[in-house]
Amino acid sequence: MILKRSESMLTIPAKTILQKNRSSGWFGNDYNMNLYKGCCHGCIYCDSRSDCYRIDDFDTVRAKENCIEILRDELRQKVKTGVIATGAMSDPYNPFEKSERLTEKALMLIDAYNFGVTVITKSGLIVRDIDLYRQIAEHSPVLCKMTVTTCDDKLSRLIEPNVSASSERFNALEKMSEAGLKTGITLMPVLPFIEDTEENITEIVRKAHECGVRYIYPAFGMTLRQNQRDYYFKKLDAIFPGMSDKYRRYYGGSYECVSPSAKRLWTVFAEKCEQYGILYRMNEIIADYQRGYGDRQLSFL
Ligand code: SF4
Repeated sequence: MILKRSESMLTIPAKTILQKNRSSGWFGNDYNMNLYKGCCHGCIYCDSRSDCYRIDDFDTVRAKENCIEILRDELRQKVKTGVIATGAMSDPYNPFEKSERLTEKALMLIDAYNFGVTVITKSGLIVRDIDLYRQIAEHSPVLCKMTVTTCDDKLSRLIEPNVSASSERFNALEKMSEAGLKTGITLMPVLPFIEDTEENITEIVRKAHECGVRYIYPAFGMTLRQNQRDYYFKKLDAIFPGMSDKYRRYYGGSYECVSPSAKRLWTVFAEKCEQYGILYRMNEIIADYQRGYGDRQLSFL
């Protein structure tokens, strides 16, 4: 049952907040945390819209009821600490976070119970919590990531309509890096025939370097599942007439849609990263941001 809490924010019942990861292979995360369900950021390619995740009315954000109390009890009961990830399936810095402050409260608990955190967002609102991330980094690993798929603000407004434009995301990364936080970019998806140019990739790496970003993890292509594909194609038809037909011809009904330029882009990307000393292999990223925090790194290796 969904209860209406206010004019703008809906809530949804919740039993648990932390989900244990079976492996720590994805950015060294031990747990996943979602305080909200759904996302109103409107990225046209969003994978979380897929049927398989069974999120009704995905574009409506709902806060999980009593999520802070549930999280506190779960953290209190854990025998071992670990790294908590937030930002998959729902952006923790959606527009409601400004007033609801659930992510901020969760970070306070993560700090109090000596856990680490990795966060991924497309919102500049994250800079509000810089001091909290710094506090957590005093005892546990912290990694602050932004997803950036294009350097072109006009394009980002079209394909990611309700989030901070790419330039604002770079500004946020710069502020976090300057504050001494370890920052990264998830460079994914790279939309075939739209974003998969050498210029776009090299410019993202160059700007990342300028902003003090230490890691970039890329995927040169995208994934498409049935209803996510339908949504994406509908949006493509509105923004880039004829483009969805190009996808149909090239990929048919494939789930994995790798850019035809992926090989070349990888070479260019890796060269640029090496030039700037930016890490881009997952094991190196994890080892680097977890270094110096007891035996975490050793257990990963
Ligand atoms: S911010 Fe993330 S979860 Fe939200 S719509 Fe965009 S891709 Fe999906």
